[in-house]
Amino acid sequence: MKKIAQSLIPQFLSCVGGAMDLFVPVRMSGAANWGIWDKNRTVDLDTLKTVKSPKDVFFPQCQTMYTVHHADAGYTIDPMKLTSQPFCVFGIRPCDVRALTVMDQVFLAEPEDTFYRARRENAILLSLACHRPAQTCFCSVFSIDAAQSDGADVMMWMIGQDLWLEGQTDKGNGFLEQFSELLEDADDGACVEEEKESIRAITRKLPYSGLSLEGWGEGRTDEKFDDPNWEQLSDACLACGTCTFVCPTCQCYDIKDYDTGHGIQRYRCWDSCMYSDFTLMAAANNRTTQMQRFRQRFMHKLVYFPTNNDGMFMCVGCGRCVDRCPQSLNIVKVIKTMEKGREEEQA
Ligand code: SF4
Ligand code: SF4
Repeated sequence: MKKIAQSLIPQFLSCVGGAMDLFVPVRMSGAANWGIWDKNRTVDLDTLKTVKSPKDVFFPQCQTMYTVHHADAGYTIDPMKLTSQPFCVFGIRPCDVRALTVMDQVFLAEPEDTFYRARRENAILLSLACHRPAQTCFCSVFSIDAAQSDGADVMMWMIGQDLWLEGQTDKGNGFLEQFSELLEDADDGACVEEEKESIRAITRKLPYSGLSLEGWGEGRTDEKFDDPNWEQLSDACLACGTCTFVCPTCQCYDIKDYDTGHGIQRYRCWDSCMYSDFTLMAAANNRTTQMQRFRQRFMHKLVYFPTNNDGMFMCVGCGRCVDRCPQSLNIVKVIKTMEKGREEEQA
């Protein structure tokens, strides 16, 4: 176990940022979002949830895949270079670490996404426990521990005036060794155990901690697809796509070409199943109403994905959609409404 005084964190980040790319939550325009560390930026480790999740670091919102140049003898294709150097993601929360495991099921399945794999392999994840989980958090429903992320290379806890760090993988231990100059050896961390217990106690009392997933998951397609509740649930949806853009597990994208004047860039950018032109084909559109699109999003997260991925849900309970939907529609509302319908049916 290591620790560092909070007052020395800027110096520590400066060392790390000087040696490799360093992604941190930064304060910009009154909100916290992920960005590359720079000494002029304000690092924000206090805000629990960044507006957008760190999925941007692994699956950028907009990413050039290759550029085509016209040459005398025809065309040349310049693929984008893959990430080949280690980089650090500092302060990622346990739910967002789990979200990467969900994304792995998609991007690392055959045929695997080489851009994503290169970034996953080179990333060093330093996860920060959630000192005070928010009222809209429900990660525990998906068996995520806000006090301890097993998928991170280093786990961190902010306790009083100190940041405690514990290496969890060879990569994490190597990182702590590399930047050991500012870190001090700490005792067995009794205060870390207390902190974990405190976080778990808060988590148990959160309003959505008792949310039941009974009735969702593998093989529930027939049961849920024609549920009459979809109509009224989706009625107020504006199709703005906010829920999909802030979600750490939504991973749909579109591919487009752009003429730069010096070549054609083929790029991909996030898309949303909530949009009316999503997967629009020349022959037809397979989801013509907002109800169908709305249903697709939640069926994918709560039924189709677990059906195809050994029961793994495509939600980590981060609560961003609960915080951000302008119409107060979200996955919690869907689960609760359907659950109520189920209870009434069984009564
Ligand atoms: S559910 Fe809410 S956030 Fe999502 S598209 Fe509809 S209105 Fe927008
Ligand atoms: S559906 Fe909502 S709560 Fe679940 S991971 Fe996405 S944004 Fe978070």
